[in-house]
Amino acid sequence: MSPMGGVGINYAIQDAVVATNILSEPLKLGSWHLWDLAEVQRQREFPTRVIQWFQGLAQKRIVARALNQNQQFTVPAFLRLPILRDILARLIAFGISPVRLNS
Ligand SMILES: Cc1cc2nc3c(=O)[nH]c(=O)nc-3n(C[C@H](O)[C@H](O)[C@H](O)COP(=O)(O)OP(=O)(O)OC[C@H]3O[C@@H](n4cnc5c(N)ncnc54)[C@H](O)[C@@H]3O)c2cc1C
Repeated sequence: MSPMGGVGINYAIQDAVVATNILSEPLKLGSWHLWDLAEVQRQREFPTRVIQWFQGLAQKRIVARALNQNQQFTVPAFLRLPILRDILARLIAFGISPVRLNS
């Protein structure tokens, strides 16, 4: 995963939450199967691919331009709109589908 946005820890925690929800019961019963692991991957793959796509986009469209000494850099207008800025912050913090531990 790219370091863009510093989402690595957030995603690691989300992975752990989903893995706990899916695996804790089978592990307690001592009968888990490969399809339990496949279900963890199924639930986490799409959000991970989305954030990786977003990281690539932000690298190309924002960071690469900010680091280009031959070009004047201004923060893109959409990042100055509070509502879009807040949506972006939520996406980075919680991913596209926030996860919760089952009780
Ligand atoms: C230099 C650096 C800076 C970073 N900075 C940031 C940051 O500022 N913000 C951010 O959000 N993310 C950051 N990250 C990314 C973040 O650290 C990772 O995305 C996150 O730690 C991944 O968590 P994980 O639990 O999936 O894997 P890991 O944290 O890699 O944990 C895996 C664990 O499994 C253990 N392990 C591996 N194989 C076995 C085995 N066979 N048997 C037993 N144990 C095993 C390893 O020893 C390790 O303890 C950074 C990463 C690096 C390298």
